[in-house]
Order: sequence, then C-alpha cells, then structure tokens
Amino acid sequence: MRHYIKLFGIIAAVFFSGYFLELVSESAREHIEIFTEILIVFVAFSIFTMTWYAYGKSRDNHSLFLGATFLNVGVLSLLHIFSLSFMPDFITSNSPQKAELFWGEAMIFLAIFILASVYIYHDSLPGFINRPVLLILSIFIALLSIIPVLFFLDHLVPMFISGNRASSGMLLLLAAATVMTLYAIYLYARRLKRTGQKNIQFLMDGLIIVTVSNFVYFSYEFSGHLLMATGFYFIHLSLYRSSVELPYEKLAEAEDRLRKDAEEKLKQTMAELMRSNKELEEFAYVASHDLQEPLRMVVSYLQLIEKRYKSRIDADADEFIDFAVDGATRMQRLINDLLTYSRVGTQGRPFVPTDCESVLRQACANLEIAMKESGAVITHDVLPEVMADSGQLAQLFQNLIGNAIKFRNEKPPEIHIGIEQKGNDWLFCVRDHGIGIDMQYAERIFHIFQRLHGKKEYSGSGIGLAVCKKIVKRHGGRIWVESEPGKGSTFYFTIPKERGERI
Ligand code: ADP
Repeated sequence: MRHYIKLFGIIAAVFFSGYFLELVSESAREHIEIFTEILIVFVAFSIFTMTWYAYGKSRDNHSLFLGATFLNVGVLSLLHIFSLSFMPDFITSNSPQKAELFWGEAMIFLAIFILASVYIYHDSLPGFINRPVLLILSIFIALLSIIPVLFFLDHLVPMFISGNRASSGMLLLLAAATVMTLYAIYLYARRLKRTGQKNIQFLMDGLIIVTVSNFVYFSYEFSGHLLMATGFYFIHLSLYRSSVELPYEKLAEAEDRLRKDAEEKLKQTMAELMRSNKELEEFAYVASHDLQEPLRMVVSYLQLIEKRYKSRIDADADEFIDFAVDGATRMQRLINDLLTYSRVGTQGRPFVPTDCESVLRQACANLEIAMKESGAVITHDVLPEVMADSGQLAQLFQNLIGNAIKFRNEKPPEIHIGIEQKGNDWLFCVRDHGIGIDMQYAERIFHIFQRLHGKKEYSGSGIGLAVCKKIVKRHGGRIWVESEPGKGSTFYFTIPKERGERI
C-alpha cells in the first residue's frame, strides 16, 4: 500500500510540474513542448539500445521484445514531433490532426505489444525473438504505420478527430489501449506474485503511469508528456534490472562459485599431495632403515669370508670376494645416505634460535680428516643467529664444505662462507676455487642420485646436494649455484629471518 502512495506522490509531483510549466511557458511554449516530446523519444530509444546491447550477455527475450517495442514507440513519437504544425512539413503537409494520429498509433501499438510481452519469458520463442528478426519487424511496422497517416489522412481524420479535439473514435482507441494495458498490469502482478522478480514491480509502475498519462494528455499536454516520459523511465529501470543488473549479478555469482570451487579443489589436492609425500618419505625411511639390518649382516659375513678364505681358494675367488665386499659396502653407504635424505622431512627437530658460527664449527669438526688431508683453509664472515634446526644446518654446511673439499683442483682448497642481508632473508654463500660446474647442470645436481662424475674419480652417491635442497626448503629458503668450470663454484642459500617451518 505504501508503495502505491509513493507512486501516487510521484504522479502528482510530475503532473504539477507539467501544469506549472504550461502556465509559465507562454512565449516559449513550443520550445518546451518539443523538449517534453523529445524526452519521451529519448527514454524510448535508450530503453531500446540498452536491451539491444545487453542481450549479448542477458539472453533475456522478454527484455529484448520490450526493447524492440520501444524502438517502435520511439519512431512513432518522433513522427508525431515531425508532424506538429510548427515543424517543417514531413512529406505531406503537417497538421495537429496528423500529429495526433501518430500519437494514437504509438499508444495503441504500445498497448498491444505490452500485452503480448506478458506471455514472453526469458527464453520464449527463440526462433522469433532475436535481434535480426525484431529489427526487421520493427522497421516494417514503422513503415506500415507511416502509410495510412500520410496517404489516407483525409479518411482517418473524421474517424478519430473532430475539429481540434479527439472524437469518439480516438476515445474508443484510448479505451482499448487502457483496457489492454490494465489487463497487462494485472497479468504482470500475477507474475510478480509467482516469481517474486522485483523488476516486474517497476514495469507495473511504469505502465500505470503511462496509462494515467494518456488521460492527462487530453487536457494537460505538458503534464501528459512528462508523465509518459516518467512511465517510460520506470520501464527503463525495470529492464535495466532484468537485462543488465541481474545477468551481471549472476555472472559475478558464477565467478565467485567457480573461484571457491577451484580454491577448494586446490586445497584438497595440496592436502592429498602432502599426505602422499609424507607417506612416501615414511616409506623411504622405513625401507632404508629396515634394509640396513640384513645388509649389515651380509657385509659382516662377507668381511668374515674375506678374512678367513682370502688367498685360500684361488685368484678368481679372491677377485669375486673383493667385488662382493665392495658392492655391499657401496650399497650400505647408499642406504645410509637415503636414510639421511628421508630423515630431513620425517625426523626434523623444531626451529630454535641457532648460532651459525657454532654450527659451522661443528660441521668443520666432522670434516676434520678431509680438511687435514687436503690442507683446506676455511674462512667466514661474522655469522648471525637464525631460527633453524641446528642439526640440519650443520649437515647443510658439512655437505657444502665437504663438496668444496672433494671437488678441489691441485691446490689446497680455500673455502669462504659469506653472509649478506637480502630483504627478509639471510643470504649465505659457500665459495670455493675448485673444479667448478658446467652451468647447464646447475639444476640437475640438486636432484637425488645426480652426479657429474664417475665413482672412480670422486666418491659419493649423489645425495648430498639433494639433502641440502631439502633442508633449505624445510627452512623456507632457496638454494642455487653459480659456477665457472675450472675457476670454482659458489653455492648460495637463503634462510628467512623470521619465518617458521614450511610444511
Ligand atoms: P656427491 O657429492 O655424492 O656426488 P652431491 O649431490 O653432493 O653428490 O653433488 C652432486 C654433483 O654436483 C657432484 O657429483 C659434483 O659433480 C657436483 N658438485 C657438487 N659440489 C661441487 C663443487 N663444490 N664443485 C664442483 N662440483 C660440485
């Protein structure tokens, strides 16, 4: 009820605006009349263009049909303006009667199509309601409606107009248009009840105002025009909601849903990946751990055989025993390294403030023999305290320094451990002047079991750098190498200053 009181308020306000405009516009009457008429044409055409272009996304046949209706109404209103007496003659000589007849046509076409639109839904008549068909049909109807007014004016005028006023014919036309529009409003009200689509309320309001405007027009031309433009504007609002706002809302909702689904899927995949990764790590750990025991037995019995029976059977047997002992020991080492690799993820300790200098001292102590043998000299910058698993950090230094010693050239190795602050990270480097690495292998050497040399040249299983990478990754950092063959290598790694463990 409150809604209709508001609507009545709007109608009254527009009516009185037109009424006062008509009172005060003595000298500029024609200009203002033209302005109010053009307002109607403008709103009608803007309804048409909006629904026309929005159709690409909205695919709303109901809106498109109403849009095409307003193209027609716009054209007829324009013809009405062209036919006003003070305008230059439009094909035949202008007269108020000619203008009135175009207006009558607009009124009746609007009522017919509005009534038809009640039966059209979002996806009705797909073969008939599409842009090319409606455009051709609108032009055809517009042309058809020009012919009688231009060429049979003499016959039509007595039927609809007497003198300067509407005759009973015109009143009959108005009555028919009103009945059709009121029936359309009634049907739309039912549709609103059924579907709850809010835009229909605006459409009904617009149609009510248009109906009122038709009656007002007879006595108060300005108010009639302004009310008609207002009614059209309400219809514009309704169609804006159904063909622009709603489709975009739906689009945004769909996008939202899609994004949420993708995020959810990603989360699930990540969880699944983490679970299978953990499982794999545990498997590698358990397998290598359990393999150790029987292998230890094989090795010790092979060594026993070597001790007892070497040089007792024959030369061939001695060689076979050597091969067997060698193979078994290598396998033991491999399994040990594998165990170390899988321990990084499964047996890591929590991060605590760790003094890098004492960790480095511990790594060097573990490498004492290799350092002595090679005559290695190790220097370092003042190293900071970081949040880390100290055992793993020591292992990291030990592997990198161990490699720097192992892959030296003829001269005793000079190894430097440097530190720099880079944003939120500590950037460590381990620099040597050894044999260097061809940069095309810079990525590969960090993969498990990847080596660039035969085991005869340099011992090792190809796990050391893979362990380093895993440790650095667990600490939330990155590791990489820069090197020039023959000149030496620098291994860089970062440790975040304030971040905890990356899971
Ligand atoms: P391993 O030392 O057991 O071979 P790593 O994973 O530690 O395995 O190293 C992989 C490969 O990277 C080595 O075989 C070697 O070719 C190369 N590499 C590692 N560190 C250095 C270094 N400081 N100088 C030259 N080459 C290196």
